[in-house]
Amino acid sequence: MCCRNPYRVDLGEDEVNRLAGEVDVAEVLDERTSIVLMRQVDDACVLLGHDLRCNAYQVRPIGCRNYPFRLEVEDEETPRIVRDLACPGFVGPPMDESAYTMLVEQLTRSAR
Ligand code: SF4
Repeated sequence: MCCRNPYRVDLGEDEVNRLAGEVDVAEVLDERTSIVLMRQVDDACVLLGHDLRCNAYQVRPIGCRNYPFRLEVEDEETPRIVRDLACPGFVGPPMDESAYTMLVEQLTRSAR
């Protein structure tokens, strides 16, 4: 599920800078690997509040904004949209074509 293990949020430089305006990044980032991840405490993102709200919602990383979707690019010609089936908040009718097109544009923009 989002905000909880095993879902891990990775961040680019712009996202780290945006977070730095709101929180102490030394406290919230896990930089032990080659990619920067949100640190987890008790199997949840360190910014997840007890009320299950994000404590940095306005500056949350792009992966959080796009969840439960992400773009998987194995080859540039055929990127795929992947949805985390564990997301309990994903309800309602199937996406229509215009919503799908907007999602592809949003995910493609955020992947640049
Ligand atoms: S930054 Fe906020 S939205 Fe993103 S995983 Fe952490 S608590 Fe959830």
